[in-house]
Amino acid sequence: MDHTQLIQSEIGKMNAKEVIEFQNQKFLNQIAYVLKNSAFYQKKFTDQNLSVNDIKSIDDLTKIPFTEKQELRDALLQQPPRLGANQAASDVSLVRIHSSSGTTGRPTYVGLTKQDAELWDQTIGRALSIAGIGPTDVVAHCWNYSMFVGGLANHLGGETTGATMIPIGIGQSNRLVRMIKELGITAITGTPSYILYLANVVRKELGVEPAALGIKTIITGGEPGGGVPATRELIESTWNAECHEVMGMVDIHPMIGAECQHKQGMHFTVPDLVLTELIDVDTGEMLPIATGVIGEAVYTHLERYANPILRFRSHDMIEILGTECECGHNGYRYRVVGRTDDMLIVKGVNVYPSAVEDVLRSIDQLTGEFAILLEKEGVQQDYLNIVAEYANSVDSSEIETLKKEVEKKIAEILLFKANIDLVEPNTLPRFEHKAKRVYKTFLGENITK
Ligand SMILES: [Zn+2]
Repeated sequence: MDHTQLIQSEIGKMNAKEVIEFQNQKFLNQIAYVLKNSAFYQKKFTDQNLSVNDIKSIDDLTKIPFTEKQELRDALLQQPPRLGANQAASDVSLVRIHSSSGTTGRPTYVGLTKQDAELWDQTIGRALSIAGIGPTDVVAHCWNYSMFVGGLANHLGGETTGATMIPIGIGQSNRLVRMIKELGITAITGTPSYILYLANVVRKELGVEPAALGIKTIITGGEPGGGVPATRELIESTWNAECHEVMGMVDIHPMIGAECQHKQGMHFTVPDLVLTELIDVDTGEMLPIATGVIGEAVYTHLERYANPILRFRSHDMIEILGTECECGHNGYRYRVVGRTDDMLIVKGVNVYPSAVEDVLRSIDQLTGEFAILLEKEGVQQDYLNIVAEYANSVDSSEIETLKKEVEKKIAEILLFKANIDLVEPNTLPRFEHKAKRVYKTFLGENITK
């Protein structure tokens, strides 16, 4: 397939009705496969007195119970080794196993059959094409290659766009900045934290501004920054490049969303492999996928062989931004509002760290790095403690005024009271992988550089 065919895949051109008919057939095939092969789902169905005959179309989806990450962890232990009770393909058919990072608990493993791997390659290529990567690109691929799906899987998918992929990984920044000129690198992928970190390495090692290096495209993912307007502006002006956000998740697919050149949110790029539901996070009721609706995304595999998942609670709160686009791809457009488990409540107001980031990055006298310090679990009382760095240009006599300005801006835009502690530039940690923004001080967590 060439570049254009990848972007305008058959599924991408279908209208909403055609997509539903197409998905319905795949859904029924997947349910039959899952119930034949997954001990985990056989038990879940039996526990609910459900059988395969109760599921006659996508309309019966809500009869199926949700799947939580913890259940997938438990399923791994129930039937070791390899993929546990939810392994639905034979041991010999597995060609690869990836792992989640384990930052929020014991890691989960996901496996791929040859067919799964081929489907990932094609659809990751599709997403990266939508995000602007093509045959003339030389891509420095700076995701962690160690177990993480964003590393190897996205690399292999990138090759299907025709681009030249360079497996940089992380921890190679000094070598990378020299390779930009030597290899004619045109695009860089990485977490937004890493892309900003790399800019400083360029300045230090090469003594030039990153904008002078000729990078055209920056692909960010792995954390929200690329979709945070102020962070995106900073990345684009620092590198003089277009920044496109992509996202995925280990249990479902490494790249389910990608932003096209119009940058009006990410397109959902895998309607042929994954079915999306939006639910009300409190009641679990289904919400329409329509412009302006915000809900938790729940995903069901439509074609997955090694470890298929039905109704996976992603705990990502997403907002639907539209259902059509000038680029010709019909996948609904969305942005991630935050994680349901990242959401803080301060005096009745919902606060996501990514919203704090947007405000802090938009203030020129700050570096944009910050940390939120929690004094207790759950609902925070009257205020939130936030540590932020002032920029090099700020004189010590201005700090007290700046602190008041930042607190005022947060109160105006985010509607909660912040207690801002301003610290010197370069005091807070920088991250090559995902940034840590929230520290539970009551559990002994501290900001360590
Ligand atoms: Zn588009």
